[in-house]
Amino acid sequence: MRMKRLMLATMVAVGLVGCTEEAPKTHAERPIAIAIHGGAGTITRENMSPEREVLFRQALTYATEAGYAVLEDGGSSVDAVQAAIQMMEESPLFNAGRGAVYTYEGRHELDASIMLGATGEAGAVAGVGNIRSPIAAARAVMEQSRHVMLSGSGAEEFARYVGLEQVSNTYFNTTERYEQLQQALERLRAREATGDQIAFEQSWEPAFNMGTVGAVALDSHGNLAAGTSTGGMTAKRWGRIGDAPVIGAGTWADNESCAVSATGHGEYFIRFHVAADICSRVKYQGKSIAEAGNEVIHNVLLPAGGTGGVIIVDNKGNISMPFNTEGMYRASKSNSTELSVGIYGPEQQ
Ligand code: ASP
Repeated sequence: MRMKRLMLATMVAVGLVGCTEEAPKTHAERPIAIAIHGGAGTITRENMSPEREVLFRQALTYATEAGYAVLEDGGSSVDAVQAAIQMMEESPLFNAGRGAVYTYEGRHELDASIMLGATGEAGAVAGVGNIRSPIAAARAVMEQSRHVMLSGSGAEEFARYVGLEQVSNTYFNTTERYEQLQQALERLRAREATGDQIAFEQSWEPAFNMGTVGAVALDSHGNLAAGTSTGGMTAKRWGRIGDAPVIGAGTWADNESCAVSATGHGEYFIRFHVAADICSRVKYQGKSIAEAGNEVIHNVLLPAGGTGGVIIVDNKGNISMPFNTEGMYRASKSNSTELSVGIYGPEQQ
């Protein structure tokens, strides 16, 4: 007994006992991570010029780095998400903010949402036409109103009231999106001529719908956040709203599981409650984000006819970015993984 005590005392003295307990992690050692997307769809090397590919890679890199810099400085995940998304909203390359697609009537109606994993607070705007940064408006709804989702002219009035920058709807005009609208209208009218408009409405054209942007992040305080911003679908009509502003469908964050932002055929993402479903599988079934994301994107959405993808980050800083389309503009960075930028599917990397 005496011998044992002596041995223990010696071990403590030379530091062999007590080293099993980890010292609390310093701020800089805690995991931080960000992932972003710029839309999913028929994105292949064949339909992409090398010059355009460079532009996309640059834009994705800048947006990721902008968000990561916030996290690295000890900033919050919601600030990182907003910084990355606003960078993409300002780029005409993406179908969000500046590069938003046209509606059937030749206007732009934008949707966005944002959510905090720590508290479940969320904000969203839908069908807005003159707010320069819809993601900033979604955040203002979350922080400065008692509501979760505001739409149309009411949302615009609220944005004015809280002092967000207003622009005319033509600010979102771009030649490329205008041409996409003309192609969509041509197809629509051809179907209308055969009295088959309903079939057109049902047969969504994925090629017209790429570029929604989103970001998910984990900060050094252990808080997750997610955000999504979009111009919706080319030639959308009847005040159509997609999944991007629908909490649980296009955006979800819960510190106990993960944060998700989606892109793709919004109607399916709404019906299958995609973003929240992925995090529920992580939370209640103990699945990894890769397992949960793949299940929902490949085994739930695809068999039902839903195309698109998601970016996911969990509360340990793991990142997963599954999609069931040919490509998805995406990028990520964490303090345990280098910056990674992807556009095409695995067979075209
Ligand atoms: N999900 C968006 C929508 O349906 C579009 C997209 O992600 O491309 O409005």
